[in-house]
Amino acid sequence: MRATALAAALALLVSTPLLARQPTRIGDAAITQATQLRDAALADKTAWHVTESLTTEVGPRMAGSPADARAVEWAKAMFKALGYDKVWTEPVTFPKWERRSESAQVLGAHPQPLHVTALGGSPGGTVEAEVVRFATLEALESAAPGSLAGKIAFVDVQMPRTPTGEGYGLGSHVRGAGPSAAVKAGAIGYLMRSAGTDFHRNPHTGISRFQPGLTPIPMAALSLPDADQLARLAALGPTRVKLALDCGWNGEYTSQNVIGEITGRSKPDDVVVIGGHLDSWDLGTGAIDDGAGIGISMAAGHLIGRLPKAQRPARTIRVIAFANEEQGLFGGRAYAEAHKARITRHQIGAESDLGAGRIYAFNAKVPDYAKDAVAQIAQVLAPLGIAHREDTEGCGPDTSPFNAIGMACAGLAQDASKYFDYHHTPDDTLDKIDPAELAQNVAAYAAFAYLAADAQGDFGSALKAPPAPPKK
Ligand code: ZN
Ligand code: ZN
Repeated sequence: MRATALAAALALLVSTPLLARQPTRIGDAAITQATQLRDAALADKTAWHVTESLTTEVGPRMAGSPADARAVEWAKAMFKALGYDKVWTEPVTFPKWERRSESAQVLGAHPQPLHVTALGGSPGGTVEAEVVRFATLEALESAAPGSLAGKIAFVDVQMPRTPTGEGYGLGSHVRGAGPSAAVKAGAIGYLMRSAGTDFHRNPHTGISRFQPGLTPIPMAALSLPDADQLARLAALGPTRVKLALDCGWNGEYTSQNVIGEITGRSKPDDVVVIGGHLDSWDLGTGAIDDGAGIGISMAAGHLIGRLPKAQRPARTIRVIAFANEEQGLFGGRAYAEAHKARITRHQIGAESDLGAGRIYAFNAKVPDYAKDAVAQIAQVLAPLGIAHREDTEGCGPDTSPFNAIGMACAGLAQDASKYFDYHHTPDDTLDKIDPAELAQNVAAYAAFAYLAADAQGDFGSALKAPPAPPKK
């Protein structure tokens, strides 16, 4: 009898709603405040001014270059000028890669220059050899060992234009995996059609790495018109190319993640993370990649910080300007490593790193008890033309290492239809940003960050596993 009564009592307890996980929800006052923030952000020009200042006064800021240090000083000063309560830096160490000069030309019966840029991570060197064209990466990967001895491999794959940017998956794969496949087949140089969607005569750079144990070879990207040209020449007959790169790894460098905080009203030790990456490639001025992400996140935090203290969200808004995303997520990995013990105090995070196009979809993959709160955020974003779509992936590149160890992530998906026309080229400049689209991004980030930071309950952040150590 007693056992049965106990079991019944336990069953009653377990089924009592009070013992079930309380659903995360967002209060009416926060919804009202975030709605006002959203509308004010649409008319605010802070993000534009921040992005203009960074791209004009610092300009190109490749990781480890003299401009890297100027960008760090710029970010500290900008956070302070924007009224952030706390501003600090955290060190990020990585190998330094330098680009000094680069050229390529077709030799023989149809001599002419080709427009190329070295891929980040390429060694220097001059090679002169016949080009062997591959229409797919798989064709190069299945080339017999030694079959390209003394040749230059040319992978001629066009990445598709997609609104989501997912076409870059193919382009970046050709960049990442192609050079090692070329070495395995015996090639002495690697050329690829740029991972891009424009037909300007600008090659697109980007990082690549060789698999351990392989001897690196010079590797470069051709502009799309030059890739077409080289394909036509190769179809006429054997075509020799001279590729001359002066670039390479040169020691280590220590940069900084620059962090600014707007202190929360009642739970200051719990943070919502937003941000972008401070470094850029060296060819353009890093406006869409990722000056825009810096402008959007700094402005969103600033607008929240401008509110009277009593109207701020419960938790702190932490804005991170990440060091060296481009060459291997060094800033994100360093942050995850330094903060892993406090990952559960990170309510949720999102990074802006896909240009300055409009945000069209929002979602956060969260446990069931937090889904209603995500829907509440989506409702506030809806008037911005942002749909609540379950297929929206969370996390930007730099926040993915925190997600890997357990931080919840939100995805604010941007229209990337035009992004890969300019990405990693000399054309990545301020004029490519539409101020109204930039402001729409700020409105979304400000409203999202406010609501997440004021939610009663969490979004499922929980320690999962230690982060992978930073790549050296
Ligand atoms: Zn980026
Ligand atoms: Zn990039």
